[in-house]
Amino acid sequence: MSVKHTDLVHAGRQDLRSLGVHALPVDLSTTYPLPDLGCGTASLDTLVEGHQAADNPVYARLFNPTVDRWERSLARAEGAEAAVAFSSGMAALTACLLAMRERGSHVVAVRPVYGTSDHLLDSGLLGNEVSWVTADQVGDAIRPDTAMVMVETPANPTLKLVDIEAVVAQAGRVPVLVDSTFATPVLQQPLKHGAALVMHSATKFLGGHGDVMAGVIACSEELARPLRRVRVATGALLHPWAAYLLHRSMPTLKLRVEHAQSGAMTLARKLANDPRISAIHYPGLAQGEACSILNRQMNGPGSVLAFEVNGGYAAAAAVMASVTLMTPAVSLGSVDTLIQHPAALTHRVMNEDDRQQCGIGTGLLRLSIGLEEPEDLWHDLDQALEQASLTTRQAA
Ligand SMILES: *Cc1c(COP(=O)(O)O)cnc(C)c1O
Repeated sequence: MSVKHTDLVHAGRQDLRSLGVHALPVDLSTTYPLPDLGCGTASLDTLVEGHQAADNPVYARLFNPTVDRWERSLARAEGAEAAVAFSSGMAALTACLLAMRERGSHVVAVRPVYGTSDHLLDSGLLGNEVSWVTADQVGDAIRPDTAMVMVETPANPTLKLVDIEAVVAQAGRVPVLVDSTFATPVLQQPLKHGAALVMHSATKFLGGHGDVMAGVIACSEELARPLRRVRVATGALLHPWAAYLLHRSMPTLKLRVEHAQSGAMTLARKLANDPRISAIHYPGLAQGEACSILNRQMNGPGSVLAFEVNGGYAAAAAVMASVTLMTPAVSLGSVDTLIQHPAALTHRVMNEDDRQQCGIGTGLLRLSIGLEEPEDLWHDLDQALEQASLTTRQAA
């Protein structure tokens, strides 16, 4: 069962009636008056230890009520006990890696993941060591010092699906983190499949309007505490304005995700029969194993797809240069349609061999379908593909 509209509309707003307000209040305080010193000390201790709330917020790096309301809303959507918000998706992943350090420094991860996540893990910037494996090799890669297993499904940018339950079974005692950015809680709730932590770049669908950067981890209260401790200590906070925008976007999340998904299905079907492209990657057209994973763990294929245009880099660049309705830009999950070239942009930080090995070629374009009428989008993409084949034919 997918998340309910009722929960998306109401979760995290439980205190508004007693406050006597209807819209979400934005609290911009950086510090808070203390009724007495003892209360300040006790609240400070509580929050520094990673508890969700205390009698007094004390200082904005420790607690903010506007952020707390959105966290409760997101936790409800994921079916989680808790959620911890950060200033970006990368800040959220960083906090997980730091919080897990007490368990060990080894991470097992399945490619592909978002380019900068790949880079953060692979560079060892945070002192961790990573083993890159395929989804069926996770069990063999687990060591006594393995702190976390990370998968991304659907994966950015190839839309490859990972069977969460199969990975969880192999991981045993090691917590599994699922980057579920492409799915949102509307299409997939990884905790229900045994994952310990769910991550979102909330910059994408959760914000949904291309105007807020954020990240969030949903998990048990036990795992949330070390994440809050890291947040207090490192300061990668979500700003209350951003939390307000995110919370304001929650009631329309399911409407947006499902509407964009139906547009993506229409475009994917048209692209699948188009001689100007050589491959399409979209869970909604998947067969075999991917199709059975989709049916088992997702409520739908989503609205991001990727395709390989004939003519390689030059043709892909020409498509991006020729679209007029779609925005040629990185990011995804906005109300408008975005098109980008993963090898040159979002996954550029990976080394070329790794990139090719996980299927990110020079002709690959990623589309994030928005809320426009599919026929308008197709009209735009069709003329851009036509321009691209003209360009590449002239060059040949
Ligand atoms: C964008 C993205 C990230 C990074 O999130 P930011 O909010 O840009 O820091 C992580 N994972 C996925 C799947 C993404 O698409």
